[in-house]
Amino acid sequence: MRLTPFSTLSLLSVAVGLSFAGTAQAAKPDAPYLSNSEFQQCLDGLKNSSKFRGVDSFTFNNYRPSEPDPSVIQSLNYQPEFQKDVWDYLSALVDKERVEDGIRAKRQWGDTLRQIESRYGVKAEHVLGVWGVESNFGQTLGKKPLFESLATLSCFDRRQSYFQGEFANALKIVQRGDIAPSDMTGSWAGAFGQTQFMPSTFLELAVDFDGDGRRDLVNSVPDALASTANFLDNRGYRTGEPWGYEVQLPSGFWAASNRKDKKSISHWRNQGLTLANGSPLPYDLSSAGLLLPAGMEGPAFLVGKNFDTFYSYNASENYALAIAHLSDLITREDSSKTDFVTAWPTDDPGISRQQAKDIQQALLNAGYDIGGVDGIIGDNTRTAIQQYQTSKGIFPADGRAGQKFYRAIIGNTAPSRVQYGNQYGQPTNSQPLTPAPADRMGQLIQQQSTAPRIYSPQPSAQPSTSSNPRYRRVTGADGVVKLVRIDEGS
Ligand code: CA
Repeated sequence: MRLTPFSTLSLLSVAVGLSFAGTAQAAKPDAPYLSNSEFQQCLDGLKNSSKFRGVDSFTFNNYRPSEPDPSVIQSLNYQPEFQKDVWDYLSALVDKERVEDGIRAKRQWGDTLRQIESRYGVKAEHVLGVWGVESNFGQTLGKKPLFESLATLSCFDRRQSYFQGEFANALKIVQRGDIAPSDMTGSWAGAFGQTQFMPSTFLELAVDFDGDGRRDLVNSVPDALASTANFLDNRGYRTGEPWGYEVQLPSGFWAASNRKDKKSISHWRNQGLTLANGSPLPYDLSSAGLLLPAGMEGPAFLVGKNFDTFYSYNASENYALAIAHLSDLITREDSSKTDFVTAWPTDDPGISRQQAKDIQQALLNAGYDIGGVDGIIGDNTRTAIQQYQTSKGIFPADGRAGQKFYRAIIGNTAPSRVQYGNQYGQPTNSQPLTPAPADRMGQLIQQQSTAPRIYSPQPSAQPSTSSNPRYRRVTGADGVVKLVRIDEGS
């Protein structure tokens, strides 16, 4: 749930897993010093302010944090060190594992989903797509204590007014008895539960679907799924319409990606667009806009109003596309192929979460201290990959975990000099992926994917200095695996 730029970050941390608390410490600014006496003074002031009208003093005093949490201010000011390509983003969010989990969830919650569909008019698989991307079907809810996070954000740094409102709303939720105080944990910015609602969205749109009198988005799957459907409905969902579909562009066609510029299906038919498999566009969207996540050379989509409701869950087109694509694969009940019909314009596609875990294990085995194996390629893992690439002469040493790096490290096939492509990152033994940038509009079309990303060089190629200790995995007789520092003579 992202209704603001802040909740955008919160969702990424939960669902995509750029875990601000765990794996991204390398790129974080230092934790600031926060004065506790200032914090307590601030809370005294808030207690009597108009924003907290409706919060009784018992509730306020009971859940008032005794100390601020500086880590949330770190997260507030965190800027990812590495940018993700759209195909990396999608391949981690929509992989075989998540499709299979979604198919299982559809069977397990079939009756509930049918009831939700008939009450809110939202297709079951669309609800499942949101649930899968938001919280991995309820498996990843976030563990930060909400009151500490929101109180700290209410008193320090940017956007205090916004977070004060969310803090007050979080207190109202426990005051009303919807959610047990011990369940009030979530992302650093305050999104919580299986649907990752911010407290204000909870108060506006959460529903009690299982009829126990409480809107429990943490423990009740029916409440969470119905609340998601209620959210989509509230944002303008059109019953019976698909979100959109992948399309094929006719040769010589040029247009900019502009989801919001909606046209009729007749318009797009007249332009020569077809479904990706070549069949005619169906007339089941009242209007649709063109979405080109990787420019003209990658997969193309026509998207309707329901795509926009996914977008409103999370202000990112790539994120909405992940929800859309996951819902299609769950509808088809086929996890064997998670790609689109048209390939991404890269010769080095992204990896699944299982492949990410395999890479992390291999990095641990090679002595890189990346914390743990969680299937999330955060800044620590990317820095380790960059160091590994540099030490093995793999070019470009960009810290990216794609299929080529996966094969290099898993196959242990990295020779002293592996080159993925020429100096521009283009494959050396193949034709360019696409025709030369066409002059379709009298201007050069920027190719998005083939230019290498340049990162600042790492100071050391070998992680063996004292500031970069090397570790080895050791399995004890009790079967417990631990990391042992190599330079300690183990
Ligand atoms: Ca309930």
